[in-house]
Amino acid sequence: MPIATRAFAAVAADKPLEPYRFDRRDPGPDDVAIEIKFCGVCHSDLHVAKNDLGGTRYPIVPGHEIAGVVTAVGDNVTRFKVGDRVGVGCMVDSCRVCEPCRAGEEQYCVPGMTQTYGSADPKGGPVGQTITQGGYSDRITVDQNYVLRIPDSLPLDAAAPLLCAGITTYSPLRHWKVGPGSKVAVVGLGGLGHMAVKLAVAMGAEVTVLSTSDRKKADAERMGAKHFLINSDAQAMKAAGETFDLIINTVSATHEIAGHLQLLAKDGTMVMLGLTTEGLPVFAMPLLWRRRSVAGSLIGGIRETQEMLDFCAAHGIACDIELIAPDQINEAYARMERSDVRYRFVIDMARMAA
Ligand code: NAP
Ligand code: ZN
Ligand code: ZN
Repeated sequence: MPIATRAFAAVAADKPLEPYRFDRRDPGPDDVAIEIKFCGVCHSDLHVAKNDLGGTRYPIVPGHEIAGVVTAVGDNVTRFKVGDRVGVGCMVDSCRVCEPCRAGEEQYCVPGMTQTYGSADPKGGPVGQTITQGGYSDRITVDQNYVLRIPDSLPLDAAAPLLCAGITTYSPLRHWKVGPGSKVAVVGLGGLGHMAVKLAVAMGAEVTVLSTSDRKKADAERMGAKHFLINSDAQAMKAAGETFDLIINTVSATHEIAGHLQLLAKDGTMVMLGLTTEGLPVFAMPLLWRRRSVAGSLIGGIRETQEMLDFCAAHGIACDIELIAPDQINEAYARMERSDVRYRFVIDMARMAA
């Protein structure tokens, strides 16, 4: 029996999201059926709903910060049982045989991961549809290998955004070996940025936040940041020159990065996380003069995502969230576009209209 699902979908780039119904597949032998309780609202959802990156196929149900409870499992499922608290992030499958997949870095799968929404779905996604549909919905069916366990100590609502914002910031912090003594700057205090601050602080780093105004200064300090800079303050930016080992850049729009590069110490790296499609003005001189790098990073693998969830449980870390009803999603997008986010909107599926 297909699983009747209530959702919110984008139907065109210039139209508000609207209620949408479809059927999820009944769990196959390796599948876990999940009742979604909460779904975080990532800026990537907005980029896709508004076709900022091109190629969006409508109608599209965004959402890849999913937290819920298992309602049924297939015959081969050993890792989960009915009633377990689980999460689903940005991917629901990958080829499993390429080098990145075998290394547990499925996000870099060579033929391409199957994203939670908007991907062609070779293994059968929603009934009668050819692309995956995401978490702004009350049900989802996912292969057990792409389902995460949410530790008991983490509330489901504040854990949901860890499935993207958490892992996307945890992975580069680990890759660039942040630890005690590291000096880390976080550019942009939104959903990703606030998790970067909390995680880097928990890893022992001295953290500085760079923001467009001083509106979020007190919050940054509460999250553990030691310093706060406004990135249009040329004097403060100059004074902070040659300081940071790692800059986590979470800005969601094309912006001037040359001024940020001189903040890096020798051998420092700026990691770009924002999904911007325009070119970045990167000049050779500030790079070569201090052997600096500009890099990118994409979410994280399944194994590392579980490690991140367990790390958050061990350190008592979760997201700062503002709960909304599903029909408030358009208002949330408008606020996100004004950077008025503190620090993640999370949809409460219990408030979905019947
Ligand atoms: P968000 O919550 O909207 O936060 C973005 C922050 O960037 C804002 O709060 C603001 O910070 C700053 N900002 C926005 N526009 C700016 C501008 N024109 N100039 C300077 N700063 C600006 O977004 P998010 O969910 O954290 O996502 C951030 C970006 O990462 C998005 O592009 C998203 O698609 C992308 N993303 C990438 C991955 C990945 O795997 N690489 C994963 C998830 C998301 P202040 O208020 O502090 O100035
Ligand atoms: Zn995301
Ligand atoms: Zn692969």
